[in-house]
Order: sequence, then C-alpha cells, then structure tokens
Amino acid sequence: MAVRRFLHAHGYRYRIHVKELPGCPDVVLPKYHTVIFVNGCFWHGHRNCRFATKPKSNADFWQSKIRNNIRRDELSVQALEAMGWRVISVWECELKNESTLPSLADQVQDNGRSYESEQARRKQRNAEHRAMLKAAQERYEAAMAELGLKI
Ligand SMILES: [Zn+2]
Repeated sequence: MAVRRFLHAHGYRYRIHVKELPGCPDVVLPKYHTVIFVNGCFWHGHRNCRFATKPKSNADFWQSKIRNNIRRDELSVQALEAMGWRVISVWECELKNESTLPSLADQVQDNGRSYESEQARRKQRNAEHRAMLKAAQERYEAAMAELGLKI
C-alpha cells in the first residue's frame, strides 16, 4: 500500500495485481516497462532479515513452503525479464527506511529511459535492415536490366 500511495502521489500510473504476468506483480507500470513486487520478509524468505523468523513448530512445513515461494519468485523474475520487463523487488522491511521509496521512483525513471533507448536502437536496427534488403533488391534489378533480362 505504501508503495502504491507513494507512486500515485508522484503522478505514476499503474495497474495492480496483474494476473496475466508471471508471478502476478503487485504493481505494473506499462509506461516504464517496469513491474514491482513487494515481498513480505517472512513469506518470501528474506535472507539475513530479522523479520524472516523461522517458526519452531512445523519447521519442515514452513521451510519447504518458503523455499517454494523463493523458487517461484526467481522463476517469475526470469520470465518477466525474458519478456522485456524490468523487475524491481522491494522487501517489506526496507519500507521502514524513508529513502526506499524515492530511490524506487528513481529506478522506475531509469528503467523508463533505458527501455526507450532500447526501443530507439531496435527501430534503428530495423530501419537499417530494411534499407539493406531494399538495396540488395535494387542491385539485383539493376544488374538484370543491364543485361536486358526480365525478372
Ligand atoms: Zn526483510
């Protein structure tokens, strides 16, 4: 909630709990090609975090449950990145630190910029590729015409 409130107050537009994307990200910012996961330290097994306590009863059950959550998180991040999304994961304990949200917004901005420049490079490559094909076709046609041959 704190993440959403902050982003909204700073003019970011987003969707929440997008089920169509791997891992159902908590926040999706299409304009910045960024998704955000806000992970509870206990459920998602935050390493070396004092909030990721290990229950004494049913220890095996909890351990395997949390291990599965960690594995699922890793797979979701991999899949999202393969689909071109930038993934930001925030731990619940980090939200106590007041610099976390501003630096999150900085990251979102950076992601937006890097996505745009990547798109620009892709467009440029596509344009170069099309120009190359066109030139090859023209050379072929010119050579055939020079020999008086029909294509
Ligand atoms: Zn934590």
